[in-house]
Amino acid sequence: MQTQTSTQKMNKELKEVKGTFAGYEAATAKPLDTHNHQQLMLELATQLQTSLEIDGVIHTFMQYLHAYLAFDGYSYSLTSPYVDIQESRQKGHSCKYNLSLQDMPLGELAIYRGRKYAESELMLVENMICSLLYPLRNAISYQQALISAHHDALTGAKNRFSFDESLQREIGLSQRYQQSFSLMVIDIDHFKKVNDTYGHSTGDKVLKNVADNIQKSIRKTDLLFRYGGEEFVVLLGNSDCEDAHEIAERVLNSVRASKLELQGQELSVSVSIGLACLQSQDSPHTIFDRADHALYAAKNEGRDQIKVA
Ligand code: GH3
Ligand code: MG
Ligand code: MG
Repeated sequence: MQTQTSTQKMNKELKEVKGTFAGYEAATAKPLDTHNHQQLMLELATQLQTSLEIDGVIHTFMQYLHAYLAFDGYSYSLTSPYVDIQESRQKGHSCKYNLSLQDMPLGELAIYRGRKYAESELMLVENMICSLLYPLRNAISYQQALISAHHDALTGAKNRFSFDESLQREIGLSQRYQQSFSLMVIDIDHFKKVNDTYGHSTGDKVLKNVADNIQKSIRKTDLLFRYGGEEFVVLLGNSDCEDAHEIAERVLNSVRASKLELQGQELSVSVSIGLACLQSQDSPHTIFDRADHALYAAKNEGRDQIKVA
């Protein structure tokens, strides 16, 4: 029984390996003469330059490698931007590379197989990795630049630039699939006083702290934006008013509970929240306006509270 299970499992894994590297001959370490070697490196370098997607560059590289080296699976991981690729079997012997170029970390690559690697095979892998480094560096730099362009450097939240586009898309999707959608506008209470009393850099710490508290109170699928100075917006897909209100309460409580230590003193901060839930005739403009009006009502009625439009 156990044998059958492991055979089934092995067959499944082998199928996955085959699927992953489909279109490429099952590799049995083809012999490479100098001419073929140069041709391969040239072709590989050209192919790797055709993508600025990190996954794409890695996948192309591994497909090329697999034509010359037998292996069962691989993994590739990178911290910033976060990438975690695990293809097929991650067992047996492995060769692992901590990739970097001019002190820039380019992630970790591990290649797995049942059989031990010969010295000549490791040399081939290392030679091919030389062609991978520059295209991979370019893809990582490009992806990092894209992330910077769409995020606020101080708080890590998405920025105003990506807000308009996201709101339009989220509302379009909700209307098309007839799903609920809610939007909340969050504004820090008396924030000017924090700046005036403790200075701008303390104000910045409070901003980051509030953003962190909002982020940990919302769901992974909700989107947080820094809309303006001390104002944030959260887009809540697939959430009716009741769901959104529950999340808004979590935000309110989380900000209230987190105290910032300042020269032995504790600084308390609160936020006011305006909430609007999608109606059939809503446009991005109208739902935002309703939430913003609700926020003003929350401010007028004493702050540190939620108002629903
Ligand atoms: P309210 O409760 O009515 O919202 O009062 P408030 O003081 O929070 O609102 P107001 O609009 O009067 O002040 C907002 C302040 O936020 C003024 C501005 O200097 C500050 N601010 C905006 N952006 C930043 C930033 O990036 N860092 C810091 N430290 N302060 C900022
Ligand atoms: Mg404010
Ligand atoms: Mg404000």
